Amino acid sequence: MRCRDAKQWLYAQRDSDSESAEATALQDHLAQCPACRAYQQRISRLDSLFGPSTSPVHSSISTDKIMLAIQQQQRITQQLEDIRKQQQTRVAQLRSVGAVCAAITFFTLSSIPLLLLAVAIIQTDLVVKALTPLNGVIDVLIILGEYLQTGVALVSRDNWLLSGIAFAVVVMMGMWLRLMRHPQEA
Ligand SMILES: [Zn+2]
Repeated sequence: MRCRDAKQWLYAQRDSDSESAEATALQDHLAQCPACRAYQQRISRLDSLFGPSTSPVHSSISTDKIMLAIQQQQRITQQLEDIRKQQQTRVAQLRSVGAVCAAITFFTLSSIPLLLLAVAIIQTDLVVKALTPLNGVIDVLIILGEYLQTGVALVSRDNWLLSGIAFAVVVMMGMWLRLMRHPQEA
């Protein structure tokens, strides 16, 4: 006997104490199968809750109640499923919103240099005004470069002077290194 048949027989047996070959087979199956024994106990507990099923009125009431309970359970399952679907939809929406935000942020950040370039092209006067303080620094750098050039020209004109300066630089470097190293060696 299969479990499904056993359960059907258990359900049918509540209304009539049938002594047949099926009933014997059912008892045999119950002796072997713990799952069906548990089912039998559940049925007897339901009967004790909703009254004995021998009376047709009680039987119909208990069946109605069972059907109602099953329907409620189905409704709850459906509601849970709906909630799960809503959550999934919300998560998907959040995900798409996040992707859009990331794209906008990336676009904005990457467009800042382009924007600055566009401003530089369109509002040249403004950029020149903004760069005017920098012009002084650039002038100073150019003047320094010119002085350096003059110095280099002077030095290259006199090889003795160049050699002397090079020697002095080397000596100063050596002294500086020695002074710097001395405290570490002590
Ligand atoms: Zn079974």
